[in-house]
Amino acid sequence: MFEKILVANRGEIALRVIRAAREMGIRSVAVHSTADSDAMHVRMADESVCIGPPPGVDSYLSIPAIIAACEVTGAQAIHPGYGFLSENANFVQIVEDHGLSFIGPTAEHIRIMGDKITAKDTMKKLGVPCVPGSDGGVANLAEAKKLAGEMGYPVIVKATAGGGGRGMKVAESAEKLESAFMTARSEAKSAFGNDEVYIEKYLTTPRHIEIQVFGDGKGQAVHLGERDCSLQRRHQKVLEEAPGPVITDEERARIGKICADAVAQINYAGAGTIEFLYENGEFYFIEMNTRLQVEHPVTEAIFGVDLVREQIRVAEGLPMSFTQDDLSINGHAIEVRINAEKLPEFSPRPGTISQFHAPGGLGVRMDSALYDGYKIPPYYDSLIAKLIVHGRDRPEALARLNRALSELIVDGIDTTVPLFHALLQEPDIHSGNYNIHWLEHWLETNL
Ligand code: ADP
Repeated sequence: MFEKILVANRGEIALRVIRAAREMGIRSVAVHSTADSDAMHVRMADESVCIGPPPGVDSYLSIPAIIAACEVTGAQAIHPGYGFLSENANFVQIVEDHGLSFIGPTAEHIRIMGDKITAKDTMKKLGVPCVPGSDGGVANLAEAKKLAGEMGYPVIVKATAGGGGRGMKVAESAEKLESAFMTARSEAKSAFGNDEVYIEKYLTTPRHIEIQVFGDGKGQAVHLGERDCSLQRRHQKVLEEAPGPVITDEERARIGKICADAVAQINYAGAGTIEFLYENGEFYFIEMNTRLQVEHPVTEAIFGVDLVREQIRVAEGLPMSFTQDDLSINGHAIEVRINAEKLPEFSPRPGTISQFHAPGGLGVRMDSALYDGYKIPPYYDSLIAKLIVHGRDRPEALARLNRALSELIVDGIDTTVPLFHALLQEPDIHSGNYNIHWLEHWLETNL
């Protein structure tokens, strides 16, 4: 059993992991950059180690510094959170080479799923339905034109190494393919150092539905239903909910089983998310994330499980603490992502929090690393808090979200909170009638 784990992350997700560890009687080590000396994760952990200067590449992404921090503190395992090194197969290999445990899947699984072409190929072989597209990378414009012509427009050009919505370009017609192809490639090159791209049929009105899976690494796996993450801006999620407003129990059971069986077959370990686009009753795989997702709390709320605790247990070699039959859905949960950004352009707004008050009460969870006087550093992601509400049903969850938002105070900086107040006025939000384009259209006319 682990006595001490190191959390290779910052912000709310570092707190999330420290909290789970403390409940399990495991000591925690925070690592931090010089910009985060006063950060909440540093204050909350049992120990902390400064691992470098502010830029992520010199601190939270510095593998030697993180390994050294484990060695000086005697931490036996590393939880990577999300982002930073969480999906870096090379890091996992180095962690294991140092006799430490990585709380997450194997380097091999991360590598397979980190490359969207091998991921799709693997999933297809495991019986998971995929978006129609090129079989592998597309080498040049001529090949792209030929494939897109066969598939029919619109198509989307996507970076094999893509993530965070980057390296993705839609081409509505043959004339627009050249610029989409070239732009996706150059974006991919600069963002990921890999300019390989592939082509998919562009679905015009899908919802983004993702299935939470969990495996024990030994051939047992379960699914924890879906999350609907269709409210997106620039391919980035803004609000997530579970269960999905339009997914039936039969559909959940069917696609859930396909996903659980797929990860069981490869002996997948820990938490994973299989992302789909959902259109006209069909699921189309787009990618798998081999880590805890930002939006995992909505799943925790409706299933009453602690996914981080479960990740740690599986990394210790213990069995999962639930079987598929133990898992049932209770009510409805919604998460909103509160970013330090100024509307309407969503430009990052680091600054000092003059006053912070978190909402509370029945069915309200606030995951954040904020406190009065906290100075948000300008070097990292703008996500500063997640507000998660849980109700007996969707209308109750929406009413609770409204109530919780009205209690929340984050003064001194601009945040995305006004967006959620405005969205709660929209009939489509209340009816659940939205797809992946709804928010972009709404923003054009309403903000
Ligand atoms: P990333 O890894 O950058 O997040 P994904 O492959 O997960 O990229 O896609 C992110 C989002 O982009 C999806 O949720 C969806 O909104 C849009 N998208 C991706 N592929 C397609 C497609 N084939 N058709 C329509 N939209 C797509």
